[in-house]
This record gives sequence, structure tokens and C-alpha cells, in this order.
Amino acid sequence: MKTEQIVLTGEGDDQIFRRAGQILRDGGLVAFPTETVYGLGANALDPNAAEKIFAAKGRPADNPLIVHVADPRDAEEFAVTTPAYYRLAAHFMPGPITIILDKKTLVPDSVTGGLNTVAVRCPAHPAARRLIQAAGVPIAAPSANLSGSPSPTTAAHVAADLSGRVDMILDGGECSIGVESTVIRLTKKGCTLLRPGEVLPRELAAFVEEVMVSPAVLDPDAAGDKPQSPGMKYRHYAPKTKLILVEDTASFVDFVNRQEQDCGVLAYTEDMERFAGRKVMDLGKKEDPAGQMHNLFRILREADNMQVPVIYAPLPPKTDEYLALYNRIIRAAGCEVIKGWT
Ligand code: AMP
Ligand code: MG
Repeated sequence: MKTEQIVLTGEGDDQIFRRAGQILRDGGLVAFPTETVYGLGANALDPNAAEKIFAAKGRPADNPLIVHVADPRDAEEFAVTTPAYYRLAAHFMPGPITIILDKKTLVPDSVTGGLNTVAVRCPAHPAARRLIQAAGVPIAAPSANLSGSPSPTTAAHVAADLSGRVDMILDGGECSIGVESTVIRLTKKGCTLLRPGEVLPRELAAFVEEVMVSPAVLDPDAAGDKPQSPGMKYRHYAPKTKLILVEDTASFVDFVNRQEQDCGVLAYTEDMERFAGRKVMDLGKKEDPAGQMHNLFRILREADNMQVPVIYAPLPPKTDEYLALYNRIIRAAGCEVIKGWT
């Protein structure tokens, strides 16, 4: 398949969106920018189209897709909306949040991985919104990467993984947030956080009585065989090079300087100069979790160009602000953490 890659200018792209919308209605695949990461879109109400997503990504069939809408009310067509959904939607949508609701029969099983629930997201990125509107149907879209590799934050990342496997890639520049949406499941009393993202637990707590954090957020092994969010059980985001996390962040520089000379390092900006002769990549400033998260997926892709046998990185704290970073980097490292070496 030939993949058409088109750079969006922001204005006057009407014809491009009309064509992209037509491709989606015809059952094809279009990759597009969102404020979180690039998505790989298909018509969410067409089972054959949704199945093409799994084939293009090499995604396990039991890992469900998020359905994207231009307006929170559009979810009523295929999901059982509740007052809590609308309360949260009024504050957080459009934006980087995904809410799991009971599904209606209209959603194909291939989209929900056979679950009786469906994930709903209303993105804020103007190009994503124009694409959904142009298609005139809800868009099922996981991240536009090969399954298991880091999520794409530029169109070049998408092309590296999916060129020849999708009909069109819309290039809207670099994603502003750079980490996937916060995923929550509504419960009787409040909600359970299934995947951390830019919307933090304490922000959710202002709108619901109780916010539980699924144990799998911090510990992939806790997900078990039947996790609430099937995506949590898979090894994810991994560079090809071995990545090892070091728990004692205060002594991280000392630790790395005692390791093999040819190792690589993901380092805080402030420490970049302190690793004698090692290959260092800038993770971002120490007290800037959003900046670190913005960089992480790009760095994990670039890490493989360092040509080193192993890369060390500091284990982030488990606090609210760092939850998304912790959740992604622990999976990227296959849970390999060095503890208490000092
Ligand atoms: P991705 O689109 O690649 O960011 O992955 C979507 C994430 O949402 C995965 O972790 C899925 O397991 C999760 N997800 C999608 N639909 C559901 C659902 N119905 N119930 C629970 N988790 C879901
Ligand atoms: Mg993904």
C-alpha cells in the first residue's frame, strides 16, 4: 500500500480533510495528530476497518481501541452516558482524558476487544477535531505506532513504523503533551484511574467523590491476566536497547559513573555534564515532570541510535505529577529497577 503523507498548514486544509474523511468512510486508515500522541484512525462503527488497525499495528486483538468524538454528546450513539460522564466532560473535554462507559450494541466487538464497555475521548487538537467532523463517524484510534514500540509524537515517528501500512498520514507537527490520555472507569462512588496522563488524580477528585488508582498503574504485574484495562498487561514503549532504571535518584550520577564506560544515560538537564565520557540524552529539567514526559517517547526512539549496550535512567517518584512518567518508563524498562545499591 502506498502511504500518502501530507503536511497540514493549519488554514485552508479543507480539501485535505475532505479526502481524509472520505478515506475513513470508505474503511481506510488515516494517522493524525492529537494533543497527546499521534493516533491511527478508522471508522469505529465498521468492524472491517477497525480490524485493519490491529493488522497495521500488530496489536493483540484483546487490547481495545479508544473511540474519538468531536462532541462529548456524540458518544450517546454508541455508549451509555451518565451524569458523572457529563460532569467530567464539561470540565475536561475537549482534552486529554478518556472515559470508559458501558457500550451499546452499535460498537463492533473488534473495537472493544470483546468487552461490554467502550472508551470515549474528545480530543482538543484542531486537526483531530476537523478530521472527526469531516469523517462524520466516530473514529477508533490507538496510538499510531507498531505495537510495543514508543508512542509517536511526530509524523516522522508514525512514518518510521507504519509507512506502507496505512492510507494517509496527516503531519501536524510535534504533539504538545507527548503522553497518551488519562484513562478512567466510572464507578458507583467516583472513578478508577486505569492509565495516568496529563489530567491528574487530584484534578479528577474535584469532580467525583472518590478516585482510586488501579494497582497496575504502578506495577504492571498487578494487572494479572484479566486487567481492567487490557493494554496494561503488555510490554510497551520499549526501545530495542536494554533500559535499566535506578531507584536512588540522589546518587544516580555516582551510580552511572561506576558502570561500564560505553553505557548510555537518560539524564536530567542539570546533570548532563556530570557523566564522564558517557553518551547522554536530555530527559528534561529535574522539577519538570510535564517536560520530561513530553521528551520521553522521542528519547526512547532516539536511544536506539546511541549504539550502546545498555541505558540507565532515574526511576521517577510515584507522586501525582510523575505518575504518567513512572507508568510509561517502568514498562519501557520491562520493570528492571536497581534498588538500594548505595
Ligand atoms: P492506545 O490507544 O494505544 O493508547 O491504547 C488504548 C488504551 O485504552 C489501552 O490501554 C486500552 O487497554 C485502554 N482501553 C480502551 N478501551 C477500553 C475499555 N473498554 N476498557 C478498559 N480499557 C480500555
Ligand atoms: Mg498505544
